[in-house]
Amino acid sequence: MPANLISGTQLSQNLRLAIGARAARLTSRNRRPGLAVILVGEDPASEVYVRNKVRACADTGIHSVLEKYPATLTQAALLSRIDAMNNDPAIHGILVQMPLPRHIDPHAVIAAIATRKDVDGYSVMSAGELLTGTPGFRPCTPYGCMALIESTGIDLKGKHAVVIGRSNTVGKPMALLLLQANATVTICHSNTPDLGRHTLGADVVVAAVGRRNTLTADMVRPGAIVIDVGMNRDEAGKLCGDVAFESVSEVAGWITPVPGGVGPMTITMLLMNTVEAAERELDDIEPVVREFVPIVERQQAR
Ligand code: NAP
Repeated sequence: MPANLISGTQLSQNLRLAIGARAARLTSRNRRPGLAVILVGEDPASEVYVRNKVRACADTGIHSVLEKYPATLTQAALLSRIDAMNNDPAIHGILVQMPLPRHIDPHAVIAAIATRKDVDGYSVMSAGELLTGTPGFRPCTPYGCMALIESTGIDLKGKHAVVIGRSNTVGKPMALLLLQANATVTICHSNTPDLGRHTLGADVVVAAVGRRNTLTADMVRPGAIVIDVGMNRDEAGKLCGDVAFESVSEVAGWITPVPGGVGPMTITMLLMNTVEAAERELDDIEPVVREFVPIVERQQAR
């Protein structure tokens, strides 16, 4: 039987309605949430990403500021702009689009963003908050993956999850979020021999590699949840993930498509983090314990 499709497009639509309502509530209290997006250089893919983020802000009533700079911008000048935004009361979240030109140190740039405005969740402080399970901003892509898994209604407690990939922005935080949801987690990477030996035993597989057909049907346990983070191009130039979608769909119980899976969720969780940053600042809500699972419930409760 073919797998159930987990639509990130659909889940995003639902979550963005709730985010829009939260933004409207803040705006009515003179605290419209604001996101600053900084783009340095002319990378075409980055141009598309920032445009989508700005458009998503407009659709949900979030104020956004897009600052574009040439690739020659100095690191000092960029840090100075971040400093100004850290002190701008209309801005609640700051996002610097990666990758940056080679002469700019991304670690220094991320470190310059105030933790309370780190809506990408990339800073060392945010990573520490995730590691220790304390409230903080979770990186948007793994956070979105968790919402997709949650939308299946399957409890992760006691399940075996395998994450393929160990980047600081996707693989590692993904593994920590799964662990926090009481899954038993295995992390695989480019030095892992016999990937299939691990994935075949998994109830949940998250593929975050950046290589087509990394996960094939013979590597998937029947009924498993498969989340495809990868963004690649096939021979025809068509967008595809890391998972051999057609054949894996015949084995898995649940699967995300590419496009229309993790991609839209990443932006949705950025909007969610931005609204939450503004709510925290307003200080009129209970501190939100971002233990993961009940994203949908929490949305409804607000
Ligand atoms: P990354 O930094 O390049 O990390 C890739 C990871 O995959 C590394 O940990 C690497 O292992 C591992 N890997 C490489 N080849 C492997 C193999 N043959 N078997 C097992 N593991 C292997 O990439 P990333 O930033 O995490 O992104 C991963 C993919 O997700 C990319 O396609 C990216 O475009 C996509 N992505 C999508 C979204 C979205 O919103 N949809 C957001 C972010 C990223 P080593 O550590 O050993 O090198």
